[in-house]
Amino acid sequence: MVFRNVILLISISIVAVAHSYAPAWGFYGHRKINRMAVFTLPETILPLYKKNIEYLTEHAVDPDKRRYATKNEFARHYIDIDHWDTLPFNNVPRLYKDAILKFGSLKGVTDNDTTTIEFSEEYQDNVYQNLLYEYRFDPVIPIDQKSIGNLMDIGGGSYSEVYFDNDIVNYGISPYFLEYFYGRLIYAFKKKDVDQILKVSADIGHYISDAHVPLHTTLNYNGQLTGQIGIHAFWESRLPELYADESYEFIVGRAEYIEDMRTYIWDIIATSHALLPEVLAKELLIKQEFPEDKQFCFDDRLGKTIWTQCPEYSKAYHDSMGDMVESRMQASILAVGSFWYSAWVEAGQPDLEVIENVVLETDQEAKEKLDAATNDGKIYGREHE
Ligand SMILES: [Zn+2]
Repeated sequence: MVFRNVILLISISIVAVAHSYAPAWGFYGHRKINRMAVFTLPETILPLYKKNIEYLTEHAVDPDKRRYATKNEFARHYIDIDHWDTLPFNNVPRLYKDAILKFGSLKGVTDNDTTTIEFSEEYQDNVYQNLLYEYRFDPVIPIDQKSIGNLMDIGGGSYSEVYFDNDIVNYGISPYFLEYFYGRLIYAFKKKDVDQILKVSADIGHYISDAHVPLHTTLNYNGQLTGQIGIHAFWESRLPELYADESYEFIVGRAEYIEDMRTYIWDIIATSHALLPEVLAKELLIKQEFPEDKQFCFDDRLGKTIWTQCPEYSKAYHDSMGDMVESRMQASILAVGSFWYSAWVEAGQPDLEVIENVVLETDQEAKEKLDAATNDGKIYGREHE
């Protein structure tokens, strides 16, 4: 009996370790991607980024930390695009406003029911601008009945509450948020606001890298629908940690000016999603090849002993996908550099000479707050994006 309890205790602590905090691409991967993106930049903006390379590296994981501190952060890191459509996603509007209106619905609550309020096209622009726009990244948008009553007929007085069920947010908004955030970076360049340029650059590097991970584009994000729980961290954290330093090439060429950023973003999502079948199938294959006791081992990571996929097992999975993990990391690096550079071009190529010697220091108080929330361990949204 005692023996049994010990086993139980051990398995509980193993589960606890397996579920501890790990960002997409791991700390290692996100930092590496932001860092290497600096070296893709042309001379025109290189000095500012190079001076702040430590800042950009360190803050590459802030968005994942914010998932513990901010309620609506989670949805920015992924899109479960297969909830809405299959490749090439012709039924998914590329414009956020259109997506919200297509997938969301206006709800009226009565004493014993919640009904959908018909919402014809002629009112959509007005309702969107006046009542939804400000809260468009929230999953539920409360609607003031008087305000909407001024815009359209909702059968006045019969509801105790009216709200907009913004369903798109529940399945992730990665490509839409990237476009919005790109706009913020352009704006920061226009203002030559060095704080904002670097903060948004560090953050956007994270979101771009997440979009490059095939498992960030599916409902089956952690293999939970196909009996492959744990594949999320396996692919995006464990594999790069084991192989990136020793065998990946991180000099990836020059950042490019992207004229049509919306199409570029959606191409990233489509490419990631197209790789998904292979990501899943190859792991299933390896699972069948390796006896169960050769799949998981204790291993040292950052001075801690963790229960994780064995090196040999990891190598088999890694090699079975060819250079997929490496090339998605490389593509992330190039895309991050191209976002930064394109934002500067779109801003009218402002002369950065006056700000290029600024070295941004980490706001210590903000950092401590974020770290405390992260260590607290209560995450909003789901554990693996
Ligand atoms: Zn993330």
